[in-house]
Amino acid sequence: MTTLVQKDVKYIVIHYTATPVERDFTAADIDAMHKRRGWRGIGYHKYIRKSGLVEDGRPLRERGAHVKGHNHHSVGICYEGGVFQDDPNTGRDTRTAAQRESMERVIRDMLARYPGAKVVGHRDMPGAATQCPGFDVEAWWADVQRKRDTRHAGLWARIMALFRGVTPTLAGIALLSALCAPVAAIADRYPAEVTDIYDGDTLTADLDLGLGVVLIGQKIRLQCVDTPELRGTEREAGLAVRDRVRGWLGGAKVEIEIVGRGKYGRWLGYVHADGQSVNERLIAEGLAVVPSYAKGCD
Ligand SMILES: [Zn+2]
Repeated sequence: MTTLVQKDVKYIVIHYTATPVERDFTAADIDAMHKRRGWRGIGYHKYIRKSGLVEDGRPLRERGAHVKGHNHHSVGICYEGGVFQDDPNTGRDTRTAAQRESMERVIRDMLARYPGAKVVGHRDMPGAATQCPGFDVEAWWADVQRKRDTRHAGLWARIMALFRGVTPTLAGIALLSALCAPVAAIADRYPAEVTDIYDGDTLTADLDLGLGVVLIGQKIRLQCVDTPELRGTEREAGLAVRDRVRGWLGGAKVEIEIVGRGKYGRWLGYVHADGQSVNERLIAEGLAVVPSYAKGCD
């Protein structure tokens, strides 16, 4: 066995088996195949099945046998497939979605182990005369990175929009908690504790952002509803509507969906009491009107 020195690894080389995609080949099959060629066994370090299953090939501490003249400074990753039975001489990208996903994960693991290593296809290696692995690895990998960056940028923009106007410390904590959570966990709808109801469409609540982060004392303006004022001629009606809302929210499981930031630093949103929309109920029961200035209300 010849040792592969970790710091020497400059290339992460992608291969296919060049076996018909219609048939199944395990890492053990490839191992037997390579032994028949007189090698010590499977020449790749990682092997990715059509199902996405990643099988171990040669241990990473050992030099592989996958790219002539470059085995001393590279690791080899191979996916099952690459040709069709009726056209066995044309190399193609036959990777399944599961294979692509696993390949991305394996490459990231490799990059963590060999920082700065270049991700290339077998055919891109100097001196290689092959179609392997049937696709432009560098272009594919650049595309994977770009999509990932876009996803992250979108996440940041969303978080920053949500916390615009909040004190920097709170925004920092919320950002941190949001980044630590999986993307799907960043909800628009937060469990809330209503601490004060000023009038039918304005209240104060503590918003539970998750992971123990609670925004205390947030002023919420209900979106798309306008209830009578507590001042002037509307006062009596205003108090009545406020008391109705107090009744609905008292003892209910409340969730608040934040859709934006309005005037006077108030959040704009929808309030749900035991799963029912308070905003909608106000309109349905004739206790509020849809304000003429509001956009996106139907
Ligand atoms: Zn190859």
